[in-house]
Amino acid sequence: MRAGWVSDDGALVGDTVAHELVDRSVGTVVDTIVGAVRAVAGGRPFEAVGVGVPGFVVAQTVVASPNFPEWDHVPLGASLSEALGAPVTIENDANAATWGAWVAAGRWGDLVMLTLGTGVGGGVVSEGRLLRGRRGSAAELGHIPVGGDRPCLCGGVGCLEVWCSTVGLVAEARRRGIVVADGRGLIDRVEAGDAVARAVVAEAGEALGRGLVAVANVFAPDRIVLAGGLAAARPFLEPHALPALRTRAVVSSRGAELVWFPRAEPFAVPGAAMVAASRAGS
Ligand SMILES: [Zn+2]
Repeated sequence: MRAGWVSDDGALVGDTVAHELVDRSVGTVVDTIVGAVRAVAGGRPFEAVGVGVPGFVVAQTVVASPNFPEWDHVPLGASLSEALGAPVTIENDANAATWGAWVAAGRWGDLVMLTLGTGVGGGVVSEGRLLRGRRGSAAELGHIPVGGDRPCLCGGVGCLEVWCSTVGLVAEARRRGIVVADGRGLIDRVEAGDAVARAVVAEAGEALGRGLVAVANVFAPDRIVLAGGLAAARPFLEPHALPALRTRAVVSSRGAELVWFPRAEPFAVPGAAMVAASRAGS
């Protein structure tokens, strides 16, 4: 878990600080967040606290989370507000990162973000609003089916996450006889010219292209942000993904700008804070 101090213009002041969760019980998570907020504030007064949570969030409640499988409708926002004596806003982590990317881009245009890491997260800002849905599970862009019959942890088949997450890529590489520890290991093999590794990543690029066409056609974004560890594979993904977006998406959407960042975290912490700030000010 990372915490940071964010000024009211959305800029991160100083570095973020990592905190280890010793276990995943609600009590431990609340105590860890409270300790992190107090440490980062260092006695300074703050207007609001924003928390990005991996999971479905409705009305300041974590309905369910893949990272916290025991959690069921946990009122995290209320617990934290009470413990901190300040307004606390919780938001899905990919949504928070998306909002952070939109604020960083000058709050202009419609923006879609895909986080390409161990899984694939997604977020959408359309007409200045973060798309959440009444159930808190809108913009689960990692679970757009893009082909193939490989099962996904969500219960679906052929999800973008199966193709374009490090976990999915490493599993597919293994099936083809390439044993690597992680996404970086696979990219190293691709850079070294390994033909099978190149084929695995090229197919991921094709799948990414189908995903980009889907998000372009549904949301008509001005900009699509791709962020996370797999951005390191951009030279091998983009040549397969970009032509699909440029030729197969509907005409008015195929020109969407594609932007890559090596990490989503630099957007996630300011994004969570800015979601909280906009709620505190509304
Ligand atoms: Zn899925």
